Amino acid sequence: MKRRDFLTGAAGAAAGITLTAGCGGGEPAQSEGPAVHTTKKVRWRCASSFPRGLDTIYGAAEVLAERVAAMSGGNFEIRVYPAGELVPGTQVLDGVQSKTVQMGQTASYYYLGKNPALAFDTCVPFGMNSRQQTAWLHEGGGLELLRPLFSDFGIINFPAGNTGAQMGGWFKREIGSVDDLQGLKIRIPGLGGSVMSALGATVQLLAGGDIYPALERGAIDATEWVGPYDDHKLGFHKVAKLYYYPGWWEPGPSLSYYVNQEAWAELPAAYQEIFRAAAMQSATTMQTRYDAKNPIALAQLLEAGVTLKPFAPDIMAAARDASAQILAENAAKDSTYKTVHEAWSKFRTDSFRWWGTAELAYAQFAFGS
Ligand code: CA
Repeated sequence: MKRRDFLTGAAGAAAGITLTAGCGGGEPAQSEGPAVHTTKKVRWRCASSFPRGLDTIYGAAEVLAERVAAMSGGNFEIRVYPAGELVPGTQVLDGVQSKTVQMGQTASYYYLGKNPALAFDTCVPFGMNSRQQTAWLHEGGGLELLRPLFSDFGIINFPAGNTGAQMGGWFKREIGSVDDLQGLKIRIPGLGGSVMSALGATVQLLAGGDIYPALERGAIDATEWVGPYDDHKLGFHKVAKLYYYPGWWEPGPSLSYYVNQEAWAELPAAYQEIFRAAAMQSATTMQTRYDAKNPIALAQLLEAGVTLKPFAPDIMAAARDASAQILAENAAKDSTYKTVHEAWSKFRTDSFRWWGTAELAYAQFAFGS
């Protein structure tokens, strides 16, 4: 992996911040002068990592396109393509890096093989919730630390929305303790899969369309996906009735827009401002749509006979400890990862203390009633 020497220490991290200082939230410097009215015609293609059927996520990219077009008087157009049409779903980074497309909509934890620290752009197990992750990225120094990592691929990353805390997923049999995880065949990708594996489960990677038939015929005992709204559409409740929570591996996963740096530099300054504003709006749209749709879908699932089950405390504790060990091992192997992990950990600790007061007290009193 290409190392970022200026990120190898505290002084180096400060230098990294200096590189992008001057624009709020780590925004890259503008390529042109002040934003002025322009009628330049720009046409971009956006490759999404997601199918149209995930309409809350995919739909946010369409919101971005609609807003960019509206704010530019139709002069700046972005056309969104679902996974596989232009670029395979898990190769959006490559497609943007090679300028096959000017931009993409994806999740950075798909690319841990290129740089494990990219996980912090999305989420890691036992990380922060949606608001906390968004705060870290925009206002807590997260983007300043992460943008140099994406610059290695000729990419500028923009936060693109969040699902909120995900569900633990669908289980065909009860999981009462860590012992029950031994040999459990579960579909769960990424670091969550690494943790489940460390706890004794047999982890399988299946693409979205292959999960339901595997669960139905018993090739897997359990699967995670997203949350009530997305899960209901895939029909997992028809073949598994136990719906566990929380998805501790994805407490607040942040999606990302990737923009090719050359394409960005060619944009008139006014269009860069429009893109920033539209990206923020589309990100808010994604979270608010999930927050509006999940309660309705959860009620429908409960009516269909689904049983909600919290993960047992010993499973949560064992998973938390295994997660911390995996992150520490990664940090020991890579100085860039260590720098990001330390900054992220401090923000997380401070944030959890604050959220453990007013937000937690209110949630505990109000949400269960
Ligand atoms: Ca998930």
